[in-house]
Amino acid sequence: MRIPENIFQTIYEHLLPTACITCQEFQKFSICNKCLDSLRDGALFNYQCCCQCGIALQAPEVALQKCVACQHLEPYFDETYCLDRYEGLLQKPLHELKYQKRIAFANALSNTWNLLIGKDFVNTHADYLLPVPLSTQKLAQRGFNQSWEIARRIYCGQHIQKTPYVLQRHHYSEHQAGSSLNNRQQAIQGMFYVAADDIQKLQNKTVIIFDDVMTSGATLNEIARVLKDNGVSRVINWVLLRAARPI
Ligand SMILES: [Zn+2]
Ligand SMILES: [Zn+2]
Repeated sequence: MRIPENIFQTIYEHLLPTACITCQEFQKFSICNKCLDSLRDGALFNYQCCCQCGIALQAPEVALQKCVACQHLEPYFDETYCLDRYEGLLQKPLHELKYQKRIAFANALSNTWNLLIGKDFVNTHADYLLPVPLSTQKLAQRGFNQSWEIARRIYCGQHIQKTPYVLQRHHYSEHQAGSSLNNRQQAIQGMFYVAADDIQKLQNKTVIIFDDVMTSGATLNEIARVLKDNGVSRVINWVLLRAARPI
């Protein structure tokens, strides 16, 4: 008798139900079908978004496919794709990962990404996928880089090399949260650098940067600036959650 390949997975799912990461209902998967459907219908990736910074477009911006901010001052990065809004269903699971150190949520969040938009991005032309790095001190404090823990599990073409080491970050004691946009842009300058041994391999390459949360875009813009200063030709951002535009 032939044993189905997924029999152990099936037994496991029936014996060990799991709680959905967003509604906590016990069922088979890390995110339940109801929550998945709700994201399929309402998550940010369904909307017309700025091709450069990923923010939801307002009606007058749709024709150009670019938000007013990017029209006035073009960022260094070339494209941005976001799964959902920061205020949406996935904020709480992300906080469980980042602040409660529940590492299983990285698996569930990347699984959610793969189910919803993984197929759309699997043929993306790029050479490297790098997470937004943490400083060594921050990494020691948290124990893991949440962006890397998600990025390492998401689908992308096999031609894309994933690595958390190429991009590095200095440690600054000032915390970004709560500071104004201008201060954030100033605070982030000079914070990132490329590991000396890796500069050569970035020449004329396309790099995807994965970030868990994009707020003002200052961090990703500074990273793109540093990468392009080091010879990268194109920078694409993949973002789990995108904050709404500042009022
Ligand atoms: Zn659910
Ligand atoms: Zn924009």
